[in-house]
Amino acid sequence: GEYSHRVTIGGGDELTRLADEFNELTGRLQTTEEVRRRFVSDASHELKTPLASIRLLTDSILQNDGMDEETVREFVTDIGNEAERLTRITEKLLTLTRMDTAPPRAVGPVDVKQVLLRVEHMLLPLAGAVNVSLHMDLIEGCTVLATEDDLYQIAFNLMENAVKYNLPGGSVFVCLQLRRGKRPGDGDWVVLRVEDTGVGIPEEDLPKIFDRFYRVDKARSRAAGGTGLGLSIVRDTVLQNGGTVEARRREPEGTCFEVCFPRWHGEEEGAE
Ligand code: ADP
Repeated sequence: GEYSHRVTIGGGDELTRLADEFNELTGRLQTTEEVRRRFVSDASHELKTPLASIRLLTDSILQNDGMDEETVREFVTDIGNEAERLTRITEKLLTLTRMDTAPPRAVGPVDVKQVLLRVEHMLLPLAGAVNVSLHMDLIEGCTVLATEDDLYQIAFNLMENAVKYNLPGGSVFVCLQLRRGKRPGDGDWVVLRVEDTGVGIPEEDLPKIFDRFYRVDKARSRAAGGTGLGLSIVRDTVLQNGGTVEARRREPEGTCFEVCFPRWHGEEEGAE
């Protein structure tokens, strides 16, 4: 690669340590550069597909004089859908790049329960349309220090996926809990679990689903209007707000996503 300036030094402990540090750093730079290049190439590919469909559809209309009105309507509708898809992809790409560069937004105490109730309200029409029921098991006192819009985005993406990748008649369980830290001195954690009874994610795909553009079933994601960016936005946003997120298979079926944030106890009790 471009960063091939490896340093080898024998002897002196201090020098060896410095050389190791230098080599480790160049290694990391190379990875960042690769990740960036990969991202641009993946993004271009994702944008090219709908653009190619739009070209194809317009060409068919323009080159076929005798096309009946109904077919024209159908093609134009498809063009509209592809344009909508492009909009969704670019919006999400902007969200991701903005996270890299934008100054940190307002952070404050947020009641997670209130955020989840807003997300539930937004998702009810979609859930109703595919006959999936939402079960909310929420408690008071789950306050975290975070950006409210970020929490909304995290919960929305997870709950929307739980509906999208479900089966007719299936369920989504959203639950809030408080958990004690494992070691003495660890504070409490606010734990948000989003479980579904849906199609599930194969064990071997689980480590990859937070990667940008990764989709287990491309056709299904596409049909559901997916971009493969939702979970990478979830991961970045969770980390930015000091939390953790993981996904595992749910027994007997479906998927379970768990997000943990340090609980905020309020100024008067001496928060972190
Ligand atoms: P998409 O826009 O495709 O939904 P995401 O980044 O949100 O992208 O999710 C990545 C992929 O992970 C999805 O395409 C889907 O294959 C899988 N996935 C995400 N959530 C679930 C879920 N609750 N159940 C099953 N598969 C899921």
